[in-house]
Amino acid sequence: MYPASFEYHAPATIEEALSLLERYGDEGKILAGGQSLIPLMKLRFASPRALVDLNRIEGLDSIGEDDGHLAIGALVRHKDCERSEALRGRYGVLGDAAPQISDPIVRNLGTVVGSLAHADPQGDWGSALLAAGAQLEVASSGGTRTIPLDELFQGPFTTSLEPNEIATAVQVPDPGPTAGGTYLKLERRVGDYATVGVAVHLSFDNGTVGRAGIALTGVGPRNLRAESAEAALAGAELNDDTIKAAAELAAEAAQPRSDERGSADYKRSVVRVFTERGLRKAAETARGEER
Ligand SMILES: Cc1cc2nc3c(=O)[nH]c(=O)nc-3n(C[C@H](O)[C@H](O)[C@H](O)COP(=O)(O)OP(=O)(O)OC[C@H]3O[C@@H](n4cnc5c(N)ncnc54)[C@H](O)[C@@H]3O)c2cc1C
Repeated sequence: MYPASFEYHAPATIEEALSLLERYGDEGKILAGGQSLIPLMKLRFASPRALVDLNRIEGLDSIGEDDGHLAIGALVRHKDCERSEALRGRYGVLGDAAPQISDPIVRNLGTVVGSLAHADPQGDWGSALLAAGAQLEVASSGGTRTIPLDELFQGPFTTSLEPNEIATAVQVPDPGPTAGGTYLKLERRVGDYATVGVAVHLSFDNGTVGRAGIALTGVGPRNLRAESAEAALAGAELNDDTIKAAAELAAEAAQPRSDERGSADYKRSVVRVFTERGLRKAAETARGEER
């Protein structure tokens, strides 16, 4: 099916884009990689009056460390993350998630920030960035604000972003010198959405866990943080007992539903196994970073 007709704008600056969003209100839609919005428009699930295409705006396509955090701009594509040296080691949860998203065509166009704004409960970036403790940097014609990802995701395909706001970047706090993480994804075939995904991001402080981030994909109405598992690990030594206990708590935090991808029990078991594996891998990476 063809989309309903719409007006198309390709502003050259953020200010221009913001004034277009003010003009159209909730009848305007931002276009980034188009990998979620265009299919929705073709199916007529979305029929915006106007598209505001960000792709001509300069300065939104970089990944860089600055001021205590790593910033991923609104036009950074999944493939940029796949190739980025910055997203390995301490930020391994992000580097490991990138190549597991769909296929090369989607990865060439789709953006990290667009994935967050789309808020698909089966989106991989939501979990990877929740685990990393990220926040969204947002601009409107009234100024700027930041939204912690915990507060961004409200439910399936629903966020706390306002129609007049542009997410300009996602910021990931520096986890310190001894940190590591990974993203484990079970998919029915290469390129599929997650049956289950588990993101793990650990930072260490004098040999014990400092901050633990664990987030789950595909087992709830939005990307979920396994908060009790995170709390159990903070300040603890990472050993077989604490790993097993945390994996159990993460499985309890999951809210899986039985569907064509698997039964709820099966998905919960996968969360347990992946959390255990993820914690071991994150610790291994962090030890490697120390050298
Ligand atoms: C076949 C296929 C398979 C896929 N498989 C996976 C997968 O395995 N894992 C996965 O995580 N994703 C998957 N995706 C989704 C993909 O990752 C999309 O790229 C992503 O969801 C949206 O990013 P985008 O840049 O394409 O956003 P767009 O489609 O351009 O926009 C999506 C939504 O976000 C809004 N938006 C975009 N950018 C901003 C911004 N800067 N500020 C505010 N709002 C904004 C738009 O208005 C729109 O509502 C798949 C997509 C396809 C088509």
